[in-house]
Amino acid sequence: MELNQLTAHELLAKLKSGSITPGAIRDSLYARIRSVDSKINAYVRTDSVKKSDPKADPQGLLNGLPITVKDNICTEGLNTECCSKILQGFRPPYEATVISKLKIAGAEIFPLKANMDEFAFGSSTENSYFGPTHNPWNLECVPGGSSGGSAAAVASDEAIWALGSDTGGSIRQPASFCGVVGLKPTYGRVSRFGLIAFASSLDQIGPITKDVQDAAILTQIISGYDPNDSTSVSQSVPDYTKSLANGIKGLKIGIPKEYFVEGMDAEVKLIIEEAINKLKNLGASSKQVSLPHTEYAVPVYYIIATAEASSNLARFDGVQYGFRAKSDNLIQMYKQTRAEGFGAEAKRRIILGTFALSHGYFDAYYLRALKVRTLIKQDFDRAFNDFDCIVAPTSPSAAFKIGERTQDPLKMYLSDIYTISVNLAGIPAISIPCGFTKKGLPVGLQVMAKAFDEEMLFRVAHAFEQNTQWHKLKPKL
Ligand code: GLN
Repeated sequence: MELNQLTAHELLAKLKSGSITPGAIRDSLYARIRSVDSKINAYVRTDSVKKSDPKADPQGLLNGLPITVKDNICTEGLNTECCSKILQGFRPPYEATVISKLKIAGAEIFPLKANMDEFAFGSSTENSYFGPTHNPWNLECVPGGSSGGSAAAVASDEAIWALGSDTGGSIRQPASFCGVVGLKPTYGRVSRFGLIAFASSLDQIGPITKDVQDAAILTQIISGYDPNDSTSVSQSVPDYTKSLANGIKGLKIGIPKEYFVEGMDAEVKLIIEEAINKLKNLGASSKQVSLPHTEYAVPVYYIIATAEASSNLARFDGVQYGFRAKSDNLIQMYKQTRAEGFGAEAKRRIILGTFALSHGYFDAYYLRALKVRTLIKQDFDRAFNDFDCIVAPTSPSAAFKIGERTQDPLKMYLSDIYTISVNLAGIPAISIPCGFTKKGLPVGLQVMAKAFDEEMLFRVAHAFEQNTQWHKLKPKL
């Protein structure tokens, strides 16, 4: 196997023993990118800075291992444009806390950034200013989104591992579509400082990796309290790799009945049922559980998320960041910059969100959505009184064709039906590969746990992974 095909923990063992160098890993990644990225478009920039990162601490645990970063996470000195024209040329003068933590741990930030839907608005990576990313398992299909570049890079061995962000499913759904592991941590577990905000009460940064052990290592490094993010929580970070070996004997798994309804692809349903049987064979028990407010998750999310987005995006007006339209009149310059700088989906969300917050509609939409959000959270609180975790599909279907849903925003929004509640409730969830459709597209199994119980996710996911082969399969490119 080539170095770029290995997992982070396999490479770390080799780096530690001195049998390979970080430069050799970087070279194998560049060779792979040169040979396949013209087909995939996982990376959005080609300024191949090949020198090592001066800030990486070669003495750190990660020994110079490269990591790929989504284009909405601030990397000092490297363009961070959220795949939007409006941030064209933006180089942050500071970096995200997760990036500083990774550098202290010895990681090298890979100089090319991963493609994404503009400002993380989307489920397919088709909303990128740099063009869509293609699914490595079938180039005619989407990789999921919005962290589609990160997931496709990991799946095609153009990255060892990657960071994504998840506001309503943007780590888990692309991980599921690309056959890799993706985890959304508990809200507050990982600092959002330096993550360009989409919906501040929902956003979290998390890992996209080739296996569960890598996800545990990466989650551990990026977690923890940060004085720069007042929503990060000062709770100690456990050694997540320790929870991997615990097995799942005696665990109680809840299966949400509202998730297994019309609209779910029959093949996906079968694959998920088989995966649940596997977990039972490994010693867990399962029972149906009800999350009665599930049907409100998508509408509630699209009010709260767009409201917060409209407010977060108000700062992009051509003055401080990125792109500025030419005009000799200030007001005209604001308008023209926003008209030319934002893509169609960003405009749709700004308009929707501004409307939901506007005088006379705030109570009817935004305030009501917040109340229903609490009911959704309470559904989970109740379920976790009786169950250790909840298992469900990550997405109602496998990857769909590029272009298939772009004309129908509602259909696109429904792709997140199984991932959104987790963000609204603030709890953690992981997606792991659990099978393939007859057409050869990966399917993901989602495991959810109560707030700050990421250890439960690693236990269940690792037990499943170690007793299946899905994570070892590679797309033919
Ligand atoms: N697909 C969802 C949306 O478009 C979620 C995106 C995300 O998690 N960033 O809002």
